[in-house]
Amino acid sequence: MILRYEHIELRLRHTFTITRGSRDVANNVIVRIDHDGITGIGEAAPSGRYDESPSTVAAFLSKIDLSRFRDPFGLEEILRYVETLGQGNFSAKASVDIALHDWIGKRLGIPLWRYWGLDDRRAPVTSLTIGIDTPETIQQKVHEASSYPILKVKLGTADDRDIIATIRSITKATIRVDANEGWRSREEALDKILWLESQGVEFVEQPMPAGCLEDIAWLRGKVHMPLVADESISTLADIYKVKDAFDGINIKLMKCGGLREALKMIHAAKAAGMKVMLGCMIESSVGISAAAQLSPLADYADLDGNVLIVNDPFDGVRNDRGRLVLTDRAGLGLNS
Ligand code: MG
Repeated sequence: MILRYEHIELRLRHTFTITRGSRDVANNVIVRIDHDGITGIGEAAPSGRYDESPSTVAAFLSKIDLSRFRDPFGLEEILRYVETLGQGNFSAKASVDIALHDWIGKRLGIPLWRYWGLDDRRAPVTSLTIGIDTPETIQQKVHEASSYPILKVKLGTADDRDIIATIRSITKATIRVDANEGWRSREEALDKILWLESQGVEFVEQPMPAGCLEDIAWLRGKVHMPLVADESISTLADIYKVKDAFDGINIKLMKCGGLREALKMIHAAKAAGMKVMLGCMIESSVGISAAAQLSPLADYADLDGNVLIVNDPFDGVRNDRGRLVLTDRAGLGLNS
């Protein structure tokens, strides 16, 4: 098995702003694993929130030597070995995991959703993300998103009420809110969430900083809408830590290290009585198609990274007015 990787620059349709900052491009890494005439493709979308960059991804990938393994079917052993090469580096680990899965699907001639025994008709409708912006630009974005039935709105600013009021004035779409750790006290978070409930918001993601689990548990006892963990949870081992503070978890391949870990997390979260959301970073159709293969198991999907960019080098899962359309194409379902 040979592992290759290259850097790609994904350009965003609109400057993407959340409470932590703004960006116009995403610098990701595409991984290819060649074996026996088949190439599996994966992607890393490194996040500064988790101290990752394209260079940390490249440094991690350069340590990997797959020549000792027989073929990609040995996922458990290969991923255990990759784990020994360093802590963190979840997006780099995810890129390897995704490429191995794509190879397996291609070798078997089936898409991963079939490999896992799933029903493509259960794939949920994904939300489309509306980043923090001026009222004029938010209006423009909401008009552009008029065919999407679910919007995920980024909050965590002094203008939160104005942002929601602006959107509500032009659409009846379902609204989900992501505060990205932006509300700093539990009183502020309570005040905002009770108001959001009056606006018909479906749920809120990560109302307070990742470590504020006691405050979030307090909040949970006082509000009605579900609270979903994002920055508070990365891997399977975190589920037991957050289960009293949140009603659901946002699983991202780039946070947890790939499809294999995500699948374990989905089952563990369901066993703990939690809702499952599948989310993403700014990713090409490689990362999004990978997560979409798991989506029939999710309660909520936020897999829109590929529709927020203008130069997607790949063609995979289709987004039909929010509906994720899985196909019979093998592996991740990429058209190549
Ligand atoms: Mg989030």
